[in-house]
Amino acid sequence: MTDDLRINGERLISDLRDLAEIGGTPDGGVNRPALSDADLAARDWFAQRATEAGLEVRRDGAGNISAVLPAADPAARSVLFGSHLDTVPFGGRYDGALGVVAALEVLRTVREAGLRLPVHLEAVSFTDEEGTWLSLFGSRAAAGELTAEELAQPRGMAAEFNRRLEAAGLTREGILAARRDPAAVKAWVEVHIEQGTRLEDSGTDIGVVTGIVGIASYWLTFVGRADHAGTTPMNRRLDALLGVAEFLRQARELIANRFPEGVMNCGIVEIAPGAFNIVPARARLALEFRHSDPHRFEAMREALLSLALHVVEIEGLGLEVEQVGVHPPVMLHRDVLTAIEAACDALGLSSTRLPSYAGHDTQAMAAIAPAGMFFVPSIGGASHSAREATSDEDCVNAGNVLLHAVLRLASQP
Ligand SMILES: [Zn+2]
Repeated sequence: MTDDLRINGERLISDLRDLAEIGGTPDGGVNRPALSDADLAARDWFAQRATEAGLEVRRDGAGNISAVLPAADPAARSVLFGSHLDTVPFGGRYDGALGVVAALEVLRTVREAGLRLPVHLEAVSFTDEEGTWLSLFGSRAAAGELTAEELAQPRGMAAEFNRRLEAAGLTREGILAARRDPAAVKAWVEVHIEQGTRLEDSGTDIGVVTGIVGIASYWLTFVGRADHAGTTPMNRRLDALLGVAEFLRQARELIANRFPEGVMNCGIVEIAPGAFNIVPARARLALEFRHSDPHRFEAMREALLSLALHVVEIEGLGLEVEQVGVHPPVMLHRDVLTAIEAACDALGLSSTRLPSYAGHDTQAMAAIAPAGMFFVPSIGGASHSAREATSDEDCVNAGNVLLHAVLRLASQP
């Protein structure tokens, strides 16, 4: 039986330490934005470790890189698992890296144990998860969801994007052809740091992710009237900023009372004309909100927009609404969740179900395969910073839960 099988924890921790040197910063963080020289060096490091372990290395047209342990039957399906090696600018050493290193360690463990499985096992590192150039670049290319229009409008400078693609040996044709055949993918699993404190606060080992939040963003412009800030009586003003203030206060109450699992942020306010001595005529607010349940997400959208209308009616203002982007929530697959929970039980680790408030490659993979994901605790919840930390014990747990979830998924008919 394979129940007693464990990954080599020391090897996993030493891999994490070595990987953090690539693009490492003096404060203990990592600066490895997608397609930077450090990111390309990290991929080569991954390929070299995989080769040393006797695994096959494959690269696809989008720069996604895989270590593969093939099944005896070339026509077998694949169980895929992994994460990403790129970081945000001046990020941490665990975000993405833990998922890739744990995936590599699972392959080494299965190979050394001489297990013969009916599926190919593939540890994947996806290109540009953090969206330096395009959000979920590599995983959406693998899912066939990346478009030529998006490729023509990268987030950074187009000329620099072209230079970095060339440095990575990538072409637009290759990227658009990177789609995986869904029929050949049996399942996808990702382990990631939580980037929050829910696990730490509750003293739980593993968070089994039920779904990945939907994210909606809008510009809401509250429209009033510009007036002299001295001579206009207070009760005669149509102050656009007052609309923002009222909306913000009531929206927080609304979320707390009706959508306790949702979150909302107002990250930018632009005021026009914008002077000490002019009553604001226009106040433009950047509103973003997230929820993991598709029905609640839609209800939240309706409730927030109705609230904005209610506020302008009371205050005598006008309202302009511009939708910036709506990405619906992604529910993760029950079979993969169950495999992760069974792995936790077998290992004697506590687990809880929770939604992910951040985007991940798993949401792209859910479009082409039964997909699931789990979290290990982040110390203090720090993430996207050099303060990012997870205990060695939790990193080893990540590897063992991934191993046993993958073995369960591999053996399912
Ligand atoms: Zn990540």
